[in-house]
Amino acid sequence: MPEKRFQPPKGMRDLYPEEMELLRSIVSKINGIMRVYNFREVEPVKVEMFETLAAKSGEEIEKEIYAFEDKAGRKLGLRFDLTVGMARMAANASYPKPIRWYCISDMFRYEAPQKGRYRSFWQWDAEILGSKSVFADAECIALGCDILDAFKIAFEVRISSRKLVEWMMRELGVEEDKLGEAFRCIDKLQKLSKEKLMEEFEKRGIRRGVAEKIISSLKSRGNFEEVAREVRGRFMSKGVEEALNELEELWRALNDFKVRSKCVIDLSIVRGLDYYTGVVFEAYAKNKKALRTSLFGGGRYDQLVGLYGRNMPAVGLAGGIERLMEVLRAENRILTTGDGVDYFIACVNERLAGRAAELAVRLRRKGLVCEMDLMGRNLSAQLRYASKIKAKKVIIIGERDLMKGRFTVRDMESGNERKVDVDAL
Ligand code: AMP
Repeated sequence: MPEKRFQPPKGMRDLYPEEMELLRSIVSKINGIMRVYNFREVEPVKVEMFETLAAKSGEEIEKEIYAFEDKAGRKLGLRFDLTVGMARMAANASYPKPIRWYCISDMFRYEAPQKGRYRSFWQWDAEILGSKSVFADAECIALGCDILDAFKIAFEVRISSRKLVEWMMRELGVEEDKLGEAFRCIDKLQKLSKEKLMEEFEKRGIRRGVAEKIISSLKSRGNFEEVAREVRGRFMSKGVEEALNELEELWRALNDFKVRSKCVIDLSIVRGLDYYTGVVFEAYAKNKKALRTSLFGGGRYDQLVGLYGRNMPAVGLAGGIERLMEVLRAENRILTTGDGVDYFIACVNERLAGRAAELAVRLRRKGLVCEMDLMGRNLSAQLRYASKIKAKKVIIIGERDLMKGRFTVRDMESGNERKVDVDAL
């Protein structure tokens, strides 16, 4: 019988030290970028009341998340993103507008796991609440670009407008109560075959002929002028024209923020979640081998905060930390090799362990990173271990040295040894 191994739940991963160090170094870089944009850090609760999570998407969100009852019978759920929590927090507090908040933390979704898609994963997320300016939308996209640039990733941001697509669909005859359903189908455009997609539309009450027209009109892709020309060639309602004008303002603001060359208008981007009302965007790595799924995504959601009690326009974005790790790994650009150990304290015999402990205390009080032998190993095994943990120096405590009031300090790179006064360390 093979030994039983205890695994984490499906789709969830433990972070071993190498991954945790990489995660921390990524987070620290992102923290620095959030700082220059003056986003302030918050942490919404991980467990929300189920009604908070279902406020926009409805009860059917239950299929996609972790939901359960607590011992008092309250219905709760694990957060699936940070936008909902921050929107709820903004509705419950009074801060000068625009509220600029960010958070880097872990999410939970009951997804079908695959490469780059987990049931628990980390996101960086920033939200601007209270502003309806197109510069807030552009600033979010610029932030996302700055973050990916900081990791030297080649990427493209695909931008669309839900408002524009909504008006196009109205013109094609999609009824008002079917618009949400249609968006959910369009969100699967990349994932499903044409036939399967048609079935999805039909299942949701949208006729095949209409669905085909929707899909063909979402093929437009390019800079704003190119896309606008194609859209104007097919659609003429006032709604479409207004939405195009808004998109043009964003296109100009992206130029002011110096990120337009990384952006493309792509009307097939609509995003899966229901709360978006305006501009939506997603960033993809140019290196398709590294990652096919998005690196970040976001958009404007002017109705969500209102659902939690205070009307407020808002825009935000979130990116996956594991996805950054995957691109870095695929391109062999892992940044960390551990955090470094200043000293390993070795003893020639176990009777000297007390002296090693005293020395460790002194070094740590000075802020030096050190570790002593806890395995009762002989000296050469201790030196081998010190080399494995990449200690820069080993302090060797020996009986004869001690009688003369000194330690031996070995430099692990050069192998040179010198005697050091016991009180000098
Ligand atoms: P979303 O909240 O779905 O817009 O996702 C925002 C970003 O989070 C995506 O662009 C991905 O980078 C990342 N992400 C979303 N879902 C997952 C997942 N299941 N596993 C890992 N990363 C994810």
